[in-house]
Amino acid sequence: MGKIRLATEWLDACAGCHMSILDIDERILTLLEHAEITSSPITDLKHPPADGVDVGILTGAVSNTHQVEAAKEMREHCKILIALGDCAVFGGICTMRNFFPKEEVLRRGYIETESTHNPEGIIPDEGIGILTDRAMAVDEVVPVDVYLPGCPPSADAIWYVITELLAGRKPVLSGEVLKYE
Ligand code: SF4
Repeated sequence: MGKIRLATEWLDACAGCHMSILDIDERILTLLEHAEITSSPITDLKHPPADGVDVGILTGAVSNTHQVEAAKEMREHCKILIALGDCAVFGGICTMRNFFPKEEVLRRGYIETESTHNPEGIIPDEGIGILTDRAMAVDEVVPVDVYLPGCPPSADAIWYVITELLAGRKPVLSGEVLKYE
């Protein structure tokens, strides 16, 4: 069997989930024997290739129009989509902003924060994604095949999911895999 093709992308996320992927440490060499990582935040190519991949991994919630398009692009270009991390699975900490109108969130973020110097009160609206009304879990935008919660999921849990997929099985996440310390 040839190598499977794997793409990852982060949406509204911190780097924690991708750091946890890298925390598989030397197992990444085993992974590379069986998989080609076509695109990721740490490779030159950031988006899944046009001819698609076997497995797509999304980290982070969906919080702006750019991320809506990125989630749809990944879904259209992968056979199995993994929502990795609490933000991707149910919105996580990104949904804290859902308690406030997005205009208030933008004003607070770009104008009012104590560390901000923005006397003209400019809120950028060109060349960046427009904030959605709510931060959303990935499956509010596109169908997800595998959910791997955790903030971030442990490297062992990520490795379990990857190796199950490499073996041609759909991962079943038991309590043991999902325990947190
Ligand atoms: S789940 Fe946690 S570690 Fe992952 S992107 Fe969200 S905040 Fe960061």
